[in-house]
Formats: sequence, C-alpha cells, structure tokens
Amino acid sequence: MQPTTPAGRGWRRLIATAAGAGAICFGAGIASASGGGGVNVADPPRLSDVICVQTCAGARRATVGSRVRLEGRHLEAVQEVRFAGGGGRIGVAPAAVGAGAVEAMVPSGAVTGTVAVDAYGSEAETPVALEIVSAGAMPEGSDFKLTSAAAKPRKTYYDGAKPPQVAYLFQGQASTDVRIDVVDRATKEAVRTWVVEDAVPNAENVAEWDGRTSEGAVAPNGKYKFRIGNAAGTAVETTADSRFGFYKYRFPIRAEHGYGDGYGAGRGHQGQDVFANCGTTLRAVRGGRVQWNKSHSAAGNYLVIDGKRTKKDFMYAHMLAPSPLQEGDRVRTGQRIGQVGDSGNASGCHLHFEAWSGPGWYEGGHALSSVRRMLKTWDAWS
Ligand SMILES: [Zn+2]
Repeated sequence: MQPTTPAGRGWRRLIATAAGAGAICFGAGIASASGGGGVNVADPPRLSDVICVQTCAGARRATVGSRVRLEGRHLEAVQEVRFAGGGGRIGVAPAAVGAGAVEAMVPSGAVTGTVAVDAYGSEAETPVALEIVSAGAMPEGSDFKLTSAAAKPRKTYYDGAKPPQVAYLFQGQASTDVRIDVVDRATKEAVRTWVVEDAVPNAENVAEWDGRTSEGAVAPNGKYKFRIGNAAGTAVETTADSRFGFYKYRFPIRAEHGYGDGYGAGRGHQGQDVFANCGTTLRAVRGGRVQWNKSHSAAGNYLVIDGKRTKKDFMYAHMLAPSPLQEGDRVRTGQRIGQVGDSGNASGCHLHFEAWSGPGWYEGGHALSSVRRMLKTWDAWS
C-alpha cells in the first residue's frame, strides 16, 4: 500500500488510496478445490509490506516500542512476529491479527531488516525492510499543522462509484509522511490506518478509503471521520469537515415511494414490493456483477446482481424496459440499473425486490424473509 502518485508540477496533487491493502484476504483460506468448501488452514501466510503506524520516524522507520503493521494474506493464523535482531530473529506475540494484516510492537534489540511471521511453522517475510532508528532520532512531531481536511462525498457506500475521500492541506517546509486514520465516530476507534509517504505541504492532497478495516472486512455502517497527522502519531488532527457516513447498502429508489406486499404475502410472495412512479430510476443496492438480465411472464424485465462480498443475490423485477446492463457487467453500489415499471404480472408501477442467501438466486440459496426490514434500514440512511 504505497500508491502515492505525484502528478504534475508545482501544484502537485497526491492520490493516496487504501485500496489494495488486504484487499485479497477476505474469505481467503476457503478452499474449494475438493468442492467441499472446507476451511483450509494450510494456506501459507504471505507478506506484502510493513508500515509503521504508531510512534514512527517514517512510513518504514520505527524505534523500539513503535507499532507496525504487516500486510499480506492468509495471516489469520499468525502466532508470532519475528523482527531482525543482532543475533538472529526476535519473536513477539502479535498485538492484533487479521486475515490481511498483523500488528506488533517493535521489541528491544530489534535492528533494521525484514520482518517475518510464523503461523504454525509456516513462515513468511516482508519483501521490504523496516528501518530501526534510535529513540533520539525520532522526530519531534510538533511541526505538523493541518490547515484543512474535507471529506467527500458526505454520504458514501461500500463499493460505490464515489468512494470516501478526504482532501487535506497542511503547513510545512518539506514533504512529510502523513498518517491517515479512518475513525468510527461511535467507538472512537480507528478502523483503518495508513501512511502516505512524502505528502506535499501547502498543496491539496487527496486520500481515499476503500471501506475496509485493517482486517480486510467491510467496515460497519455508521458515522466516520478522517483523522490526519504526522507518521509519528504525535500530532493528529481532525476537522468537522472531515466527517462522513459510510454504509454497506443503498436504498434502490430516491423518489417518493411506498411499501406494498412483503415476503409471504399472497401466493408465496418471495420479495418486497416498493411502489413508485413508472420511470423512476432504480439503483443497485450493492455493487457486484450482473448475473441475469432476462424477461419472464410473471417477473417481467428483471435483473439479478451477485452482491460484492455478500454471498447474496439481489433481484429487481417488473422494470419498465430491459436493463441496459449486460450479464457479467460490473456494477457499483448506487449505480443506475433500470427504471421502475409494470412489466410482467404487475398491478401498478412497482419494484419487486428479492434478496437471496448464498450461493444465490435459484442456485441453492433461498429468498430471505427479512427483505422488508433490510429495505427499511437502507431507506432510513439513503
Ligand atoms: Zn412483488
């Protein structure tokens, strides 16, 4: 996770993204080679990076007592983190363990070198070294002064077309490693932390969050803020403008609407009806991939989307016209997928919406009876 991409001259703009870190680890370890779907704990750990996240001299410069994060995959079984030492590696218990990241404190005696992990005898080593400096070489950290930080958009959705971003300016004499925390405003905990190397002072920098925690999971629904500071973690600041909402799903309609028949109504109704004018834009409740785009005598023009990182499928029926999307198309949360209509066996213009458990719609899953509650929940924040 070091995608700092300075572009242009003079007024430089940095786009630093948290995407990619731990991106591959959610669900890693699920082996399907046998078709049994069992958990294979034998997947060896892999490390892609080491980053100092607390009490740091730089992105990969730490001292004894610094907290560092190792990123990679298959890390859920890590028992020990091993730092380079004068006479061989020094092992410590991890401070936090997730599939995509492990954190540990730098032990006394650690020297500059790669960092390794051990998971039940299976070892991995970072491709880059962590530099260890003396406590005296640590920066004062009081020189960091945030000028402004503004989150945009203010309401964001997992896998949405516009991911959570923060544009920030800070005062300073030189490029600085800047630490970005995504803080859950309810728990006041940072769900994700990363370091932007060589951020430019007195110019707009932009950081982007992919909606995932440091463990690789999709972050909980709620209110968040970006906290910005120096890499050492000795000066962190927020502004009221850096607040934003983050949600895993979006209600499919942004117009006047009313709830009709729910799950179980009539003859085995498998979804929830939402009435709105014909022609009202329908949006994907969750990003993913279009699995079916078809027409049926009862369902009319319908679309089934395999929801990203949900195992669930979402079905939209009675659309005015066939969706312009193709089967296999990638869809983002909130993306326009069609229009409310009354095609098929529909009395009145409405969306018939179904949510199916894994593996999906008419492929072994079942329609979820909680569909009305789900829609009402999303409706409240969308
Ligand atoms: Zn219906």
